[in-house]
This record gives sequence, structure tokens and C-alpha cells, in this order.
Amino acid sequence: MDLNDPELKAMLELHEGQLRQGPGSRRTTELLLSLAGPLPEEPRVLDLGCGPGASALVLAERLPGARITAVDVHAPFLRRLEEHAREAGTADRITVREGSMDALDDLPDGSVDLVWSEGAAYTVGFDRALGLWRRLLAPSGALVVTECGWIVDNPSEEARRFWDAAYPLRSTAANIAAATAAGYTVTAAYLLPDSDWLDSYYAPLEADALRADASDPYAAAAAEGALREAELYRAHGHEYGYMGYVLRPA
Ligand code: SAM
Repeated sequence: MDLNDPELKAMLELHEGQLRQGPGSRRTTELLLSLAGPLPEEPRVLDLGCGPGASALVLAERLPGARITAVDVHAPFLRRLEEHAREAGTADRITVREGSMDALDDLPDGSVDLVWSEGAAYTVGFDRALGLWRRLLAPSGALVVTECGWIVDNPSEEARRFWDAAYPLRSTAANIAAATAAGYTVTAAYLLPDSDWLDSYYAPLEADALRADASDPYAAAAAEGALREAELYRAHGHEYGYMGYVLRPA
């Protein structure tokens, strides 16, 4: 991710006001956490590609003994996460780490009880992420990761064209096969509901997109892209979706 790229900068700026940087919700985080248990009383948790903290804050609240390391490459998101954690009274249990989720070589094998990553593994590639993170898990640990994929066999031309250009999607079966090949047992796969896209993510994003500075070509393009993506979801969201996968070392 080149943080000096003006297109990426405009996209990040458009997303700046939002706690949630991708589809998801408190309810989904809580549900996936319940599927990931049982965990030790004081679990060591990594939240990779944490953004401003939508999931890390819920994990800190729900796992009172947890020590959470929240990792992201975008420093302003980490500053916001720290602010939110201070407000929530969980700052003493969340440590932020500015860096890439594919540069965790300093962390010892088996040193994490719960690896969490919502809507972010795609940035380094799902298979690569799964391969890199496997060694971090304690033998009874769990990886919870959400990943977008096709949920129908024959998606429309329009949806396929969009995703082929943005991030080629695979089926749930293919993602489960990839997880199995990377050394995990898949213990749950949960399709995020429409409301995780429309209410938690697109509604605030569209409101910001409509207020974007039309005289700035990068800001205008980022806003138009966000509006188009939301439109595509309204028309074709029954063809693709985010799945939450709960994975354990095989
Ligand atoms: N998990 C958050 C959420 O659900 O709100 C953020 C999801 S957002 C779609 C993807 C996040 O991954 C962004 O916060 C971005 O800064 C971060 N990111 C992108 N590439 C990364 C990398 N190589 N290592 C760590 N974080 C990265």
C-alpha cells in the first residue's frame, strides 16, 4: 500500500470519519467471537488491519482479560483507535502497532490465542495471510477472518466485471479449501447480513461521499467510486458477500 498515492489518499480521507472501514457490525463481531471460543482467561489477541478499531474495541469489551495488539499501516486510524479505547476505558489492554500485517516476523511461533482480521486480509492476499498467520497461533488458538467471495455459482456480468478489476473473488468452497490447504480446520463459516454492508458501512460512507469536494478530482473520483460500489451492492449484493471464517490449527 503506497500511502503517497493520491488516489489511495483520497480514498482514505473519504473513509476518515467512519469507525467501520468495511462491512461488519458489533453483532457480527460478537457472534464470530462466540464461535471462536473457548479461549484462555487472559487471551493474547492480534487484530490485523484493525482500522480505527471497530473490532478491537468490541474484543476488548467482551474479553476483559485480553491483551490486544492492533496492527495497521495507517497511523491516523491507530490514533483514533487509541482515542476510542481511552473513552471506553480499555486503553490499558490495547497496544497499537503501526506496520504491515505481513511483517510479523518478530512474533514467536504459537504466541497468540486469537488472531482477528475483519475485511483486511485481502490487502496482502487471503492465501498469503492465512499462510503467514498460521505459525502465530497457539495449538488451541483460533483465527477469525472475514473475506469477500461469490455466494452464487453464476454471478452477473456486471458484478463479475467490477470484482475482477477490484479484487477477483472466489467461492466459499474455494476459500475453505485454501484454508484447509494452509493447515487449518474450518469450524464455522458465517455470511455477514445485508445490514452489515448497508447500515454499518455504506450509509455513512455515502453520506460523506455526497459531501465530497467536487473541485478536487481525486476526492470526486473516490466519492463516485464509493457511490457506484454501494449501488452495485444494492443491485447485486445477493451474488457476493463477506464470510466470517473461524479457523483452528489442524
Ligand atoms: N478491520 C477494519 C474494519 O473492519 O473496520 C478495517 C478494514 S479496511 C477495509 C482495511 C484496513 O487494512 C485498513 O485499515 C488499512 O489501513 C489496513 N491495511 C491495508 N494494508 C495493510 C497491511 N499491509 N498491513 C496492515 N494493515 C493494512
